[in-house]
Formats: sequence, C-alpha cells, structure tokens
Amino acid sequence: MVVFSIFEHVDGCPVPNPSDPGPRTPPRRARKGLNRVGKRTMVRMAANRKLNKLGIDHCEIKLKGCWKRSGLTWAHSVKSRFLVTPEDFLVAARACKWCHTMAPNCIEDRSHAEMKRIVLEAIQNRKTQ
Ligand SMILES: [Zn+2]
Repeated sequence: MVVFSIFEHVDGCPVPNPSDPGPRTPPRRARKGLNRVGKRTMVRMAANRKLNKLGIDHCEIKLKGCWKRSGLTWAHSVKSRFLVTPEDFLVAARACKWCHTMAPNCIEDRSHAEMKRIVLEAIQNRKTQ
C-alpha cells in the first residue's frame, strides 16, 4: 500500500507547482480606511435627532392599512435627491413604512407636487409644532 504525505504532490514530487504564484500579498488599503458615514448621512442624522425630539409617536399620513405606531420613518416633502440644505431634511412628516413606501399609491409613489402637499399638510395639522 502506498501512503501519500500531505506535504507532497500525489505524484510524489515535493517541488511546488511552478505556476504557483506563492504566498499572496494583500493589496494595500487607503490609510484612512473606509468612509463609513458620509457628510450627507451626518446631516440627515442631525436632522432626525431634532425631528425625533418632537415626540410624534404615530403616523401622520394615515392611508388605508396604516401601521399607526409601528415602523415609523420621516417622510420628507421632496424626494431624497432634492434634499440639499440641512433645513431641507427638517421638513418631514412622521410616516409609517406602509404609508411611506409600501401601500398602493403610497406617498413615495405619487407625484412630487402631491407628495409635498401631503407632507406639508400633515406638518400643519400637528398639534405640537
Ligand atoms: Zn401610516
């Protein structure tokens, strides 16, 4: 019976495969590492901290099937790509995920104008301003 060593090739040759490039050298990474949180995210997070202080604990959009107090998000008056200044991020209604993005004819699916109207209306109807 022939016993093969795991340190040898099966044919008995101890020489490494000539096409073996040898140990890998990992590619150099940028010294600063990955930019985990961008500037825009910082602006959004700061705005959300302010908005959260309003203490609104329910959906202000209230479409059919609304989740009411679950899955709450901030629905802005304009689509995300039009949020430019820090103040833009503060114009937002509390919306459950359903009313924001999931419901048939949810506010994200509507026209810019209608989305803005609904969000601004919800903000105006707030008891706590
Ligand atoms: Zn809702």
